[in-house]
Amino acid sequence: MCFVPVRRRFIHRIEQGSIRRVLDEEPFMPCRLIWVTPEAERLMGYCARVSNPENQENPDVAKLLGFCIKHGHWSVFEMADMCIEIQTTRGISAQIIRHRSFHFQEYSARYAKVQRIEEVHPRRQDAKNRQSSHDDLPAETREWFAEAQSQLFSRARQLYDEALQKGIAKESARFLLPMASGTTIYMKGTVRDWIHYIALRSDPATQLEHRQIALAAKKIFIAQFPNVAQALGWSN
Ligand SMILES: Cc1cc2nc3c(=O)[nH]c(=O)nc-3n(C[C@H](O)[C@H](O)[C@H](O)COP(=O)(O)OP(=O)(O)OC[C@H]3O[C@@H](n4cnc5c(N)ncnc54)[C@H](O)[C@@H]3O)c2cc1C
Repeated sequence: MCFVPVRRRFIHRIEQGSIRRVLDEEPFMPCRLIWVTPEAERLMGYCARVSNPENQENPDVAKLLGFCIKHGHWSVFEMADMCIEIQTTRGISAQIIRHRSFHFQEYSARYAKVQRIEEVHPRRQDAKNRQSSHDDLPAETREWFAEAQSQLFSRARQLYDEALQKGIAKESARFLLPMASGTTIYMKGTVRDWIHYIALRSDPATQLEHRQIALAAKKIFIAQFPNVAQALGWSN
C-alpha cells in the first residue's frame, strides 16, 4: 500500500439518506499493489541472457538491467507485469486509460451506483503555458470554487438519486453526474509500460491530480523493482 498525503480532501457522499460534504480523514491512498510477477527482476535478467545460457541462472541482474535501460533494450522489461488498483475520478481516469499498452478494468456506473464525488482543489491558470497551473489563488476564489462544487455536486447527487428512484437505468442516470465522480481502475502493464507511464505522468506537464497517481505508482514500482528503479535514478 502507498500513502500520498494531499491537502484537505472533501468528498460528497450519502449518509443516512442525505448528501453530505465530508472531510475525508483517511490518508489518501490513490494506488494499491494488486499483483506483480514473482521474482520479476530475476526473470527479466534471465530472459535478457537468452543468448548466454551458461550464465542465465546468475542472480546478479542489477548491472545487466541498468545496461538494458541505457541502451534502450526495452523488450527485456516486457517479460514481467504489475497490476495496480487506482482510486480516482472519471476526469482523470479518462487520461489514464489513454495509455493503450496497459490492460484495464474499470468500475462500471452502468451496473453499480456511483458512491462518491471528489472535490477538487482549484489552481490558477498559467498565463502562457496551458499545461501549467499554480496553487496561489486568493482565498475568496478558492472558497467560491468550493461552494460552486458543493452546490453542483449536491444537486447532481439529488437528481441522480431521484432518477434511480423513478426506475431510470443506472446507465442513463449517470449522465447527470460530474467528471469529479469517483471511480476505481485496475491497471495492468509490463514493467516497460510502467517505466514510461511513470516518467511521463510524474512530470510537471501532467496535471496535479494525475501526477499524484503516477507518484504513488512510482513508490510501488521502487519497492517492487529496486534495481530497475536505481538504474533509472528513481528514489522515494
Ligand atoms: C502533457 C500531456 C498532454 C496531453 N494532451 C493530449 C491532448 O491534448 N489530446 C489527446 O488526445 N491526448 C493528449 N495526451 C495523451 C497522449 O497523446 C497519449 O495518448 C497518452 O500519453 C498515452 O501515451 P501512449 O500512446 O504513448 O501510450 P502508452 O501506453 O503509455 O505507451 C505506448 C507504448 O510506447 C512505449 N513507450 C512510451 N514511451 C516510450 C519511450 N520513451 N521509450 C520507449 N518506449 C516508450 C510504452 O512502453 C508502450 O509500449 C497528452 C499527454 C500528456 C502527457
